[in-house]
Amino acid sequence: MSVESTPMQDTMIQSSILGMLGSRGAMSRADLARALKVSSATVTQICKLLIAREMIAETDDLAPSRGGRPARLLELVSSAGTAVGVKVTADHIAVVQVGLDGTVESSQTVEFAALRPDSLDQLARGLGEVIGALPGRLLGVGVAVPGSVDSRDSGIVDAPTLNWSAAQIGAILRTRLNLPVLVENDVNAVAVADRLYGAGQDHDTYLVVTIGRGVGSAIVIDGIVRRGANGGAGEIGHMSVDPAGPVCECGSRGCLEALIGASALVQKGHERGVLAGRQGGAELLEAARQGNDAARRIYTDAGDVLGRALSGVVQMLDPEIVVLLGEGTDAWPYWQPGFETSFRSGLMPSRRGVPFLVESWSDYQWALGAAALVLSAPFDASGAGGEQGRWVRARLQRPAENLASPTAGARP
Ligand SMILES: [Zn+2]
Repeated sequence: MSVESTPMQDTMIQSSILGMLGSRGAMSRADLARALKVSSATVTQICKLLIAREMIAETDDLAPSRGGRPARLLELVSSAGTAVGVKVTADHIAVVQVGLDGTVESSQTVEFAALRPDSLDQLARGLGEVIGALPGRLLGVGVAVPGSVDSRDSGIVDAPTLNWSAAQIGAILRTRLNLPVLVENDVNAVAVADRLYGAGQDHDTYLVVTIGRGVGSAIVIDGIVRRGANGGAGEIGHMSVDPAGPVCECGSRGCLEALIGASALVQKGHERGVLAGRQGGAELLEAARQGNDAARRIYTDAGDVLGRALSGVVQMLDPEIVVLLGEGTDAWPYWQPGFETSFRSGLMPSRRGVPFLVESWSDYQWALGAAALVLSAPFDASGAGGEQGRWVRARLQRPAENLASPTAGARP
């Protein structure tokens, strides 16, 4: 049902219209009003303002008539803004520039050594050089890290694989770049991207699970990524599933990650004589592809363990769909036989049909996930982006002449 907006809500509606046209493409005023659950009069009034500011424009196409006179479609003016997405790994940084419609405009890799004592300064300097040279109206920077983040807004990071403890990533980058900076756990960032461009367009409640070096998940319920009290929700990698299992990096015993993370599988490969010397994950996968039974068995057993653990999570959260991704999905054909059996049989009969989607993701797609933190800010009614999200929205609504370069972007 449509409701009238207050002046305060108008700001949110303006950025929601821009975000909606960016992620969904051209729409009529009536469709915008329906999607945003506001009155047609409000949408018409706000669109008039956005057209006057040359941020949106009418296309030559007409929307199919619903009985009345055919309506003009509205589209985003492409110069309305772009976002930068950054994926941080232990040995490099992937950076992408993404248009409001999700199109990747450029991508590059920057050298980075997380274990160097000056790694934070190196990160800020490297990003400063790359971002300073990017064209167009930058709305903000999204940063995805393999670790836990207290909030997207303050961006304090604990990431054992990067050797970061309480690292003030958000504050450091915001000062050095003079742009809004939103920091998030990398799996949560992918879940945000899925909401804008992937499975989340058609599903409000879903689970994103990653396998690879680590094992992680993101929980989306009613369209919102659930971060938990400390940003640590979804850490399935550290669910203890075998009290007699190996000791995990986190100090507990028998964590999912210690059993089926990439290094655990490689270790099993050596113990069982599939691998020799300095051989690792690539050789283990190749052995499975060549039909080596012992290698295939390692993956099938891993699938069995993952399936049992995930069935519990699915039972608990009741998602519409589960999306699986990460570099470990290269070996998914060998995980799957073990996974299917234990996952389906671990679920109550009424839940057994839950769809399971496997996606392959490159570094740049992870970085696109980070950019989605910025591009989702227009919709962020839940306030997950805090002050940084408001800053992105303010930049999105600012006329182009006030936003010529990254350094010209004063805070609202
Ligand atoms: Zn652990």
